[in-house]
Amino acid sequence: KAKENGTNNFQFFDESMADQDVNKFELENDLRNAINNDSLTVFYQPKYNSNTNEITGAEALARWKHPRHGMIPPGVFIPIAEEANLIVPLERMIIRQVFRQLVAWKEQKYEVPRTSINISIIHFYQEDFVKFMQKSLNEYDLVGELIEIEVTESIMIKKEDSINEQLQALREIGIEVSIDDFGTGYSSLSYLSKLSVDRLKIDQSFVSHSQENREIISTIVSMATNLKLKVIAEGVETESQIDLLKSLGCQEVQGYYYSPPLPSNEYETMMNREFLAN
Ligand code: C2E
Ligand code: MG
Ligand code: MG
Ligand code: MG
Repeated sequence: KAKENGTNNFQFFDESMADQDVNKFELENDLRNAINNDSLTVFYQPKYNSNTNEITGAEALARWKHPRHGMIPPGVFIPIAEEANLIVPLERMIIRQVFRQLVAWKEQKYEVPRTSINISIIHFYQEDFVKFMQKSLNEYDLVGELIEIEVTESIMIKKEDSINEQLQALREIGIEVSIDDFGTGYSSLSYLSKLSVDRLKIDQSFVSHSQENREIISTIVSMATNLKLKVIAEGVETESQIDLLKSLGCQEVQGYYYSPPLPSNEYETMMNREFLAN
């Protein structure tokens, strides 16, 4: 029986899988094996400039198809990985997979825009994180300008110099840094101006109730403007949300309105239309 030490994710896990008698420790073991066998996959969700309708990048999202239980959402397996000390190997597996994919696209002459990878704050306590990124870029002969990392606002609550130094070092090799789920973390806004980041990613909870939250969205956009940061909105599902975001000064968007996360070959087809030379 799964241990009841509930984050919301575990409650979800308990509810949805109780009848299948999924055991948390069994799942943890299966996840460890999946990481060792490189059998998680990556989906890519394109990001768009809503003025030009051009693809500006994509977010890499981890997918796990369990041999018996089918697709398990990251909202379930990421917290398990974080608890079981598996998040660093999991993310390094995802990073390598993305890099291999970028090499394949490069060889096929796709001009791929930047790809973002979600990084848990736990990964920043692994001393060699920046070195790992630098080494992997070299190994695959890729430039940092192809990569962005998304870290959640918890990074601002910690206020740790060592984390900020790592962000700065990543940016020095061309990697962009975005703050994911921005606005949900009750973080210290004064610290934001000291933090080495490129972009704020407005959380989808504000976007999905955009009319009620227009003041919040507008505040985040003007804060980003004042701090010379870029801004993107996630979870955009309707045209009216796009119109509102545009009118509030947020052009970059990501969400089901444009596209769900796609297997690499389907994302490739979209790029084919847009980026392939000739
Ligand atoms: P996130 O980074 O905030 O990613 C956005 C999530 O919203 C994704 O869910 C995406 O599929 C979903 N989404 C995109 N557009 C829409 C929309 O229009 N409406 C709605 N309702 N949802 C939309 P997903 O793929 O289930 O991932 C959930 C979370 O799991 C991610 O949230 C991220 O925090 C985490 N995650 C996924 N892959 C990784 C990873 O490799 N490492 C880490 N640390 N976390 C990951
Ligand atoms: Mg993200
Ligand atoms: Mg997000
Ligand atoms: Mg989110």
